[in-house]
Amino acid sequence: MAYVITDSCVSCGACAGECPVGAIAQGDGKYEINADSCIDCGTCAGTCPTGAIKEG
Ligand code: SF4
Repeated sequence: MAYVITDSCVSCGACAGECPVGAIAQGDGKYEINADSCIDCGTCAGTCPTGAIKEG
């Protein structure tokens, strides 16, 4: 299961630069994780200042 970004996202962009496979991009109103690219490493979850990234 890929990680997911919840509505707690404030679009700071902190996570996007940390993803080793470039799976995170700005979406409509919040950042989004491409489930097909995500390798489930969990790196992004630790970088989010609002705790918006959860295991899907
Ligand atoms: Fe990228 Fe890892 Fe987060 Fe998946 S879990 S979006 S691979 S940083």
